Amino acid sequence: MVSDDRLVAGAGSPGGSPGGSPGAEPPILVSACLAGLATTHTGAAKPNRKVMELVRQGRAILVCPEQLGGLPTPRLAAEIVDGASGASVLDGEGRVLDTAGGDVTSNYLRGAREALKAARLAGSRVAILKARSPSCGKDRIHDGTFSGTLRDGSGVTAELLRREGLEILSEEDLEGRDP
Ligand code: SF4
Repeated sequence: MVSDDRLVAGAGSPGGSPGGSPGAEPPILVSACLAGLATTHTGAAKPNRKVMELVRQGRAILVCPEQLGGLPTPRLAAEIVDGASGASVLDGEGRVLDTAGGDVTSNYLRGAREALKAARLAGSRVAILKARSPSCGKDRIHDGTFSGTLRDGSGVTAELLRREGLEILSEEDLEGRDP
């Protein structure tokens, strides 16, 4: 788990390795919707005060994997179906469908790869991602029935970043921490 001082206001500096000054804390990769950008499938934002503060301090970079995967905003809701999870999607066994039955798996995979590219470029070691999203969700996602039911498993991007060694947090993990 990331230490609290990595999330404390004023710690570190903008940039960070590999692009910033030596020894500086690299930026945290964050879901764009948590930073207040209107990127969700409904065209809304999911602003989180602590994530927005990280961005204000220049300590975070923003990605929306679904937009990076080529999907429009707003867009149809989508879920990982048939009991699959981000892990099985990455392994070529799971699919992501939208509410009209459209297969958007390739968009989700592309978005995950682009988010990973951003993380590598910035040297990010921690990601704060929106809970329960089929892209960004950590450990719990919707079950593919579009009924609001949750199941164990991570979203496609969260799983790829985790496989690449990033520590994954959700906005819910920030509760009780500073800032
Ligand atoms: S949860 Fe992730 S994919 Fe969905 S809008 Fe937010 S940043 Fe984009």
